[in-house]
Amino acid sequence: MPVKKDDSFAAVQKQLQRIVGMLNLEPEVYEILKEPKRVVVVSIPVEMDDGSVKTFIGYRSQHNNVLGPYKGGIRFHPDVYFEEVKALSVWMTMKCAVVGSPFGGGKGGITVDPRKMSQRELEKLARGYVRAVANNIGSEKDIPAPDVYTNAQIMAWMADEYSKVKGYNDLGVVTGKPLNMGGSVGRNEATASGVMITIREAADAIGLKLSEAKVAVQGYGNAGSILATLIDGHGSSIVAVSDSSGAAYNPLGMDPKELLQHKKETGSVINFPGSQTLSTDEFFAVDCDILVPAALENQINEERAATIKAKIVAEAANGPTTPDADEVLTEKGILLIPDILCNAGGVTVSYFEWVQNNYSYYWTAEEVAERLENTMVCSFKEVYNLYTDQCKCQTEPVSMRDGAYMLAVTRLADAMRVRGWLGHP
Ligand code: GLU
Repeated sequence: MPVKKDDSFAAVQKQLQRIVGMLNLEPEVYEILKEPKRVVVVSIPVEMDDGSVKTFIGYRSQHNNVLGPYKGGIRFHPDVYFEEVKALSVWMTMKCAVVGSPFGGGKGGITVDPRKMSQRELEKLARGYVRAVANNIGSEKDIPAPDVYTNAQIMAWMADEYSKVKGYNDLGVVTGKPLNMGGSVGRNEATASGVMITIREAADAIGLKLSEAKVAVQGYGNAGSILATLIDGHGSSIVAVSDSSGAAYNPLGMDPKELLQHKKETGSVINFPGSQTLSTDEFFAVDCDILVPAALENQINEERAATIKAKIVAEAANGPTTPDADEVLTEKGILLIPDILCNAGGVTVSYFEWVQNNYSYYWTAEEVAERLENTMVCSFKEVYNLYTDQCKCQTEPVSMRDGAYMLAVTRLADAMRVRGWLGHP
């Protein structure tokens, strides 16, 4: 079973405390990073299609902005809750610091099941959210983006509503917008492209040939399905894919595009022709080389970690591994590419989009791809080198996650020190 809902925030606090200790930093660093600077909670009344009024609860957590404006997605999901959004905002601070994007960390969400809403209702909800948080966001203040169950259309409504509130176009307030409204080419597939680059680097580091690798992907949404197609292009074989209904398994491999078509037609990846249906527990234990959790938090717990056979775990999702499971994976010698590095391609291209909006000058697909490649390869190498150095000098076992947090926390601490501990707005 996934761990208790409110554990992610406590877990990330513990992780920060541990890293500040390992790096021997001033106590101020943890004191400042341990809580978000601000969490806004709003209620959003929406007139539903049947004429009734329903109120939804929305959040925006602004964790830290010493490196730049708060940045991070907004998710629409029935399980969104206060502590989760806080944890997600801390991870965004770390993620932006790892890849050197000049942003802080924020995250938002609305507790709602968007699959049960019409497009009109979703539009009203998205616009209502923006009106409710309009004083807290802005292209120099806090810049939302897509996350679980939100997309370019929802970002378009949000950017449009914000511009209406302001009385002028301020499209840089939100990233992940449609191309004809100030979006960037490559943003839609950016998270998966970044995950792919880090997997390629990790495989290279351990001498695993992608053309011979067996891959299992948990979650077949934007990141999971695009990643499956990209890695299939490297000659890897997709042996297992799962979603909230269960998993489809075929040791001989499955075509990722046909899987997506099947999911579109039937609502799930299960019962894909030629596949066997597995439970989620069984999915984690399949024989594979690369495991990609691309769904929600806390999916890999201690029990599931003990059954994992993969050599690489690539965290396309945010927070998919519990701290107990982390220890198991480290002990087993599995190379984990931590979320704050692995899925940072999304926010990296969001940064490119924001820069393009500020300049009103747009880049080609090649320019975006090349810059993303550079950012991800550089960041992977920095984290990997820190991790291998620490393996030599620490007495306790260390992981790539530790390496990534060390890089992020060092950058944040340096910025806070030079500005003065309480120096950022
Ligand atoms: N929601 C994505 C993430 O978790 C993207 C955030 C962004 O582009 O600001 O990284």
